[in-house]
Amino acid sequence: MSPTPRGWPKAGSRLAGLLARLDIYGPADLLIHLPLRYEDETRLTPVADLCLGEPAQVEVDIVSCEIVLHPRRQLVACLCDASGKLVARWLNFYPSLQRQLVAGRRIRLFGEARMGFFGLEMVHPRLQPVTPLPQALTPVYPTTLGLSQSALRQLVNTALNGLSADAPDLLPANFCQRLGLPGFNAAIRCLHQPTPEVDTAALEDRSHPAWLRIKFEELLAQQLSLRRAYNARRAQTALNLPPRGVLTAALLDHLPFRLTAAQTRVVAEIAADLATPCPMQRLLQGDVGSGKTIVAALAMLQVAENGWQAALMAPTEILAEQHYRKLSAWLEPLGVKLVWLAGSQRKRAREAALALLQNGDCLLAVGTHALIEDPVALPRLALAVVDEQHRFGVRQRLALREKGAGHSTNDAQDSGPCPHMLMMSATPIPRTLAMTHYADLDVSVLDELPPGRQPVHTRLVAAERRPEVIDRLRHACVDGRQAYWVCPLIEESEVLQLQTATETWQALQVALPELRVGLIHGRLKTDEKTAVMAAFVAGEIHVLVATTVIEVGVDVPNASLMVIEHAERFGLAQLHQLRGRVGRGAAASTCVLLFAQPLSPIARARLKAIFEHSDGFTIAREDLRIRGPGEFVGARQSGLPLLRYADLETDADLLDPARELANELLASAPTVADALLKRWLGEREGLLRA
Ligand code: ADP
Ligand code: MG
Repeated sequence: MSPTPRGWPKAGSRLAGLLARLDIYGPADLLIHLPLRYEDETRLTPVADLCLGEPAQVEVDIVSCEIVLHPRRQLVACLCDASGKLVARWLNFYPSLQRQLVAGRRIRLFGEARMGFFGLEMVHPRLQPVTPLPQALTPVYPTTLGLSQSALRQLVNTALNGLSADAPDLLPANFCQRLGLPGFNAAIRCLHQPTPEVDTAALEDRSHPAWLRIKFEELLAQQLSLRRAYNARRAQTALNLPPRGVLTAALLDHLPFRLTAAQTRVVAEIAADLATPCPMQRLLQGDVGSGKTIVAALAMLQVAENGWQAALMAPTEILAEQHYRKLSAWLEPLGVKLVWLAGSQRKRAREAALALLQNGDCLLAVGTHALIEDPVALPRLALAVVDEQHRFGVRQRLALREKGAGHSTNDAQDSGPCPHMLMMSATPIPRTLAMTHYADLDVSVLDELPPGRQPVHTRLVAAERRPEVIDRLRHACVDGRQAYWVCPLIEESEVLQLQTATETWQALQVALPELRVGLIHGRLKTDEKTAVMAAFVAGEIHVLVATTVIEVGVDVPNASLMVIEHAERFGLAQLHQLRGRVGRGAAASTCVLLFAQPLSPIARARLKAIFEHSDGFTIAREDLRIRGPGEFVGARQSGLPLLRYADLETDADLLDPARELANELLASAPTVADALLKRWLGEREGLLRA
């Protein structure tokens, strides 16, 4: 352990504890704990010039000060300067405050003026003694309860004084020059203690070169860390599982369709990865309906024909169950055993499945999160497939990989071979996110839909016209078609959502006596869900009332109609996923989006986008435009340390140079790379090694 630096609070002290809450463990962390904003205490504003709602500092004489009891107890001071009068009020105060507010004394106050009942006033202004005015803007730091701004400022001050002037900058000077970035020391001095000449607006909106230097370094550290993680993984050994053309060829032989060119290409990419002795880390991206499942099945078979295990994890039971059915139908004729694991499974079935996996009798498994639970052991696991990967957190995805024997840690020195990993998603990743959060993955893209798909006809219909929609539904179903009726999303309450779905189901049964109406939702038991889905697949149910459980992956080609109620409540990606449930067979399909008015501008923009576009990439781009990248699916839950200062939208320009320099440093200056990683990630770097 390194000794506590001079002037730094002792380990275990109260102050050290407070700092730790801010992830500050030493002066170096403090130096990059940068202000949220600044207050200008370098100037005094005459009372008459105060602007309402703007923070300002005044120097005033105390005319009187008293405790007022109505409408509630408060301390009220009447103040004035040469230009006008001002009232200050404190609703919570200590007696010490009152003692400072003696009539006749001159004080400084910092606060926002507003128009009160008795004229201009400041509520809870900050009181300052009259001393020489500071020369720099006052930084306001993110802090935690019990740690004052002034204590933080003092600590920062000490840390800045301790900076050695002759320590070389970590970034190459010519690189900084080219990008117009100042040195690190100059940048943080400027951000912590900006001099009066500094462009305040550029500081506030973080476009000042000092900010850019910091944001660049942060992105650089992220790139370094991702590259290192990637390299570390490449250095691990994995099993070499070449395509033997036994099971895979047999499956291709009896498939009812031929692979698309895109599928053939992606299958070859994955097959080649599996045949190299370093762990595959691949993301398979393909729009809804592009046929990712068969690609996964072929990869799993390649593993099985080498005598090893593969597991496929899906985010919902309905989806896992459907994968199980589909894979069973494909694999059973080949004599390949497949088990399935889900949370609500009967104990005995579960134990039987566990035993088969444990003793290696069974090579392939499909399931939900249940796959990563404790008793599950896949001693010969060589491939982990995660479907709809954005629905899982990083840790869950890794937990599956670690189910193999001897993979309880992810050290490079780990003895056993590391399983290959295939992640699948229908949600295309915008370039900035691909470069930051997914930079350590190889990506395969299915950019082609299977032939014969009919485009889905999308209609926007006002909710008042629901009876007409029901009427059309009746005709379509009497003609042999099948339909989904998707109930509104009620984010606040699952119970309410369930209730709505049940009511809709009852109402549709009454309205459509000649049809069979089924109901499916997340709270049903596994075998109930299975029974309902099976009946729908078999055509025994005409209309399936569903909550959003069918959002991902469900595949019933004969269903060619979908009605989505309160479509205005859904996100764009969700609408695209839902709509992707139809248009899977030969019949022309329709998706009716019922919406209730009035529409918010965002809801209107979303409905317009889903109406106009059918391609997942375009829709994702629209989504990004409407919502901004911060909200983008997957980015939040990715589990990587979030960027503190850089913003993927405004600082996108810094990404390319950051990546360029990262590669350069890793190749020619690994110790500099180490120093940067230590500065920016410190203890958190381990997360990225995953
Ligand atoms: P997604 O990429 O959304 O997971 P699926 O794997 O569920 O798509 O495939 C959608 C449907 O298309 C399934 O019914 C699947 O069997 C079928 N399918 C997949 N590939 C082809 C193909 N090459 N030709 C025809 N149908 C295909
Ligand atoms: Mg799928």
